[in-house]
Amino acid sequence: MAKLTIDRVEVAGQKVFVRADFNVPLEDGRITDDRRIRLTIPTLESVLARGGSIIAASHLGRPEGKGFEAEFSAAPVQARLNELLGAKAKGGVKLVGRIPTDTESAAAAAALQPGQVLLLENLRFEKGEKKGDPAFAAKLAGYADIYCNDAFGASHRTDASMLALPMAMKPRPCVAGLLLARELAYLSETLKSPKKPFVAILGGAKVSDKLHALRNLIGRVDSIIVGGAMAYTFLMAQGHGMGRSRVQADMVDEAKSILSLAKERGTRILLPVDHVCAAELKDGVATRTVAGDIPADLMGLDIGPASEQVFATEINGAATVVWNGPMGVFETPPFDRGTNAVAKALAAATARGAVTVAGGGDTAAAVEAAGLASALSHISTGGGASLEMLEGRHFESLDPLMDA
Ligand code: AMP
Repeated sequence: MAKLTIDRVEVAGQKVFVRADFNVPLEDGRITDDRRIRLTIPTLESVLARGGSIIAASHLGRPEGKGFEAEFSAAPVQARLNELLGAKAKGGVKLVGRIPTDTESAAAAAALQPGQVLLLENLRFEKGEKKGDPAFAAKLAGYADIYCNDAFGASHRTDASMLALPMAMKPRPCVAGLLLARELAYLSETLKSPKKPFVAILGGAKVSDKLHALRNLIGRVDSIIVGGAMAYTFLMAQGHGMGRSRVQADMVDEAKSILSLAKERGTRILLPVDHVCAAELKDGVATRTVAGDIPADLMGLDIGPASEQVFATEINGAATVVWNGPMGVFETPPFDRGTNAVAKALAAATARGAVTVAGGGDTAAAVEAAGLASALSHISTGGGASLEMLEGRHFESLDPLMDA
């Protein structure tokens, strides 16, 4: 059942606690990808435009609950929010206090007026956040009248702000933000009632990371395209030599069992038929495309052009496509080619009317780098969360949110 969204509740004169996922990548204190912040703006604007005020909070990086640490401060997020919200946040976005529950933060929350935005410091400065501590959650619950979860990227977790907090806020309204609702519509609902043919694409480094997703998708999808290093373990299971490629020897039996399960349930598994190989992984290294077995002195670093064709044809015939994980070492050109080819195939399928969803930090970054971010139906802001959706897991943090 879909969740009640923030735009459907009365917020005038109310303080809304927005649990966002502002966990953005930082380099020397600079935000290198602000997508998670940008996509939360519609939720924030919806509250402000209707006379509500906002107490926004997120975790950022991995501080260990030992109080304020300048390196993990929410200050860069505050600066970006100020740029994005401009005059819509009355008096600018405030960030006071050193931890979310100190007296400065509590006083600022109590004094908040309609149209104002208060950003709390990094939730993980407090031990209670990771522990799911109800006492910590109760303090945060005292700040607001309404709870809004817009943190899809954290929704597979049961941290205090995700679960204990909405439970403590009840019977006050607990609702979904607009980004969370969109993520759930594309990830959860797509899996429940996909238009067929339904194609899944899994890639990345390890079979072990994608095992649960593979097992959950088999039987639900018509085909699974497997790329990235994880494909080599499957090819090894079929008896192919993989040279010095990254394989998980301890997963070969598991790969065999997945292949036979897929056969039993009528899900086709498509593996690469050729590979772009090199003797080592570095920029500008000499590459060789090989079909079939990979020679002993080489490693596979990307899918080859024939595989690109096979995969593109499969994607072209799909009505629904979900994708998680790159086809090769996309960080190092020219081994980004296969991943880009898949991104282009998804864009073409979308233009034809297919529903296409990409998830996972690397995959989203690759689609952005290919300049195709707006050409797919949806690019998830969740890494772990989007993979766990493909695994069909139950997200406890969503239970306290009201149904639509
Ligand atoms: P994951 O985090 O499991 O989605 O994996 C992403 C990582 O897999 C990226 O850093 C890629 O560089 C890596 N990867 C993809 N294909 C290969 C390959 N053929 N050999 C080694 N690493 C790969």
